[in-house]
Amino acid sequence: MSERWDNELFEQFVRLRDDLRAAKRVKDYQQVQQLGLNILELNKRAGFIKIFTPIFLKHIADASMRLNDSTTAIKYLKAAREAFKERQLSPDDWQKDIAMIDRKLEKLESNQLKCPDCGNEITDTRGGVQPYNDFDDYLGFRCVKCKRTFADEEIEKIAGK
Ligand SMILES: [Zn+2]
Repeated sequence: MSERWDNELFEQFVRLRDDLRAAKRVKDYQQVQQLGLNILELNKRAGFIKIFTPIFLKHIADASMRLNDSTTAIKYLKAAREAFKERQLSPDDWQKDIAMIDRKLEKLESNQLKCPDCGNEITDTRGGVQPYNDFDDYLGFRCVKCKRTFADEEIEKIAGK
């Protein structure tokens, strides 16, 4: 991680941040997700900027929720929670943000679908941002553990009980 000031990297950050704000305004959540990830990636090379990453982790999580990608939302909410915690100077810092994250996590996790065969969580890859290497390009509901895919009717049944 470079701690030395670099104008070019800083300008890249400002551009990404402004683009993210613009994407949020027009509710382009796929774009918000991608720009958030780009900022996290940039952060690895631009420690000197001291980017406040919890905010961007939250942006990615919120965008994922809008895209009904709860697996990604949970992943980034947990990362945001962790990042807020790391920045706490006193136990009161970021309490409101952390409490809000906990509420969202609780809601998402209670709505999560469980595979009837193994109890593992069923993931929905329809709006995914990550490349899936195992059972390839299936876009829909699947259990990673059993490598089983689910039709929409099955999902309705599982969600209904
Ligand atoms: Zn399973």
